[in-house]
Amino acid sequence: MSKISDVVKRARAAFNSGRSRPLQFRTQQLEALRRMIREREQDIAGALAADLHKNEWNAYHEEVAYAVEELENAIKKLPEWAEDKPVEKTPQSQQDETFIHSEPLGVVLVIGTWNYPFTLVVQPMVGAIAAGNAVVLKPSEVSENMASLLATIIPQYLDKDLYPVISGGVPETTELLKERFDHILYTGSTAVGKIIMTAAAKHLTPVTLELGGKSPCYVDKDCDLEVACRRIAWGKFMNSGQTCVAPDYILCDPSIQKQIVENLKKSVKEFYGDDARKSRDYGRIISVQHFQRVMGLIEGQKVAYGGTGDATTRYIAPTILTDVDPQSPVMQEEIFGPVMPIVCVRSLEEAVQFITQREKPLALYVFSNDSKVVKRMIAETSSGGMVANDVIVHVSVNSLPFGGVGASGMGSYHGRKSFETFSHRRSCLLRSLLNDEVYKARYPPSPTKMTWH
Ligand code: NAD
Repeated sequence: MSKISDVVKRARAAFNSGRSRPLQFRTQQLEALRRMIREREQDIAGALAADLHKNEWNAYHEEVAYAVEELENAIKKLPEWAEDKPVEKTPQSQQDETFIHSEPLGVVLVIGTWNYPFTLVVQPMVGAIAAGNAVVLKPSEVSENMASLLATIIPQYLDKDLYPVISGGVPETTELLKERFDHILYTGSTAVGKIIMTAAAKHLTPVTLELGGKSPCYVDKDCDLEVACRRIAWGKFMNSGQTCVAPDYILCDPSIQKQIVENLKKSVKEFYGDDARKSRDYGRIISVQHFQRVMGLIEGQKVAYGGTGDATTRYIAPTILTDVDPQSPVMQEEIFGPVMPIVCVRSLEEAVQFITQREKPLALYVFSNDSKVVKRMIAETSSGGMVANDVIVHVSVNSLPFGGVGASGMGSYHGRKSFETFSHRRSCLLRSLLNDEVYKARYPPSPTKMTWH
């Protein structure tokens, strides 16, 4: 028997022991996780610095804070989430109790990715623990420092059998996927999402797929370009563009393209100085392969700003590309790097058409002072989430479920939705054995004559 299947067996036995079910136990484990974040702050910040060049401020505000807020919210709201929820009665069930009871699914698998390697493992884990499951965690091997840190510290604070961490890459994940889980939450690329879903189908295991794609950003002529570009630059160049909900490209009228470039440049200089390489706020690309892929996307393009990189430090300058041809490679795949292409469209209709002709994105951003423009974008396009006049911030509102649609994913989590994702919502009807006269009409023999109304 391989080690991985032993680990999953132990998690299943621990779940079957029933100890993860009492609310008091779940809360205690969530509190232990919160204590882990407090006590191991330095180690977490160190791993994020080593993997992605995040400084302490960025590590906290762009990553760890999300997990902390999720934890605080779950600890506070768990008793309410876990309560049985009465439902409306029909005339036939007036005398019954009808309610929805949330129960844990069993042993769930959380597979994380490398771009926010702490939060994208811990945040789903919070919902899975809150719902009373055993949780097998598989951090991304690409962010190797965080992967080995999580494998070391999680067992020091939480129940070792219920919440094991599996280390390794594709062979280990492939092995893991042979096991039967009761739910899988995967964060990563669309291509691997298909592999995960195929493996899950063999066991009829439901999946939540948190995938990526190209999130468009439409900038209307009627808007304050200085503020809009500051917000866009913040979301695009954070973590060196390696954010699943980063605005991938800008769509705008050709008449404002130049002003957009100037305003983006201004913000980039304000944020990172004249040479972003020297900024303590600017990130690095995760690996040489990703560095080469992103640099390749700049080739042959009209570079309005940046465009340079250094392979040894995996640095790519904040880059703006203008008059980008929709057929060019940079518009065929999610960029996942600090490169902002601007594609010109001549109207809102053209922008809508551009978006709807492509895969449904994870996020969609629209900047406009005109609420009609915003409403039309909502009505005529589809995406996992959307924000008007800012980027990324919807992710921080835990009452908004976070997830994709179509190629950008399926299912969602965050806040109460995480609890629901990792729970079975069991329909319960409790009836008394008294008053059987009320039900007599249903028993055979049936009357020979009747009308249907
Ligand atoms: P990655 O290489 O870290 O892979 C993610 C996980 O899948 C890892 O744990 C890895 O071990 C596993 N994996 C990789 N190849 C596999 C295979 N062949 N078989 C089984 N398991 C395998 O990450 P990535 O794929 O480079 O992730 C980047 C993508 O993730 C981007 O598209 C981004 O938009 C998306 N993303 C989405 C979200 C979201 O919340 N929706 C968040 C972050 C990133």
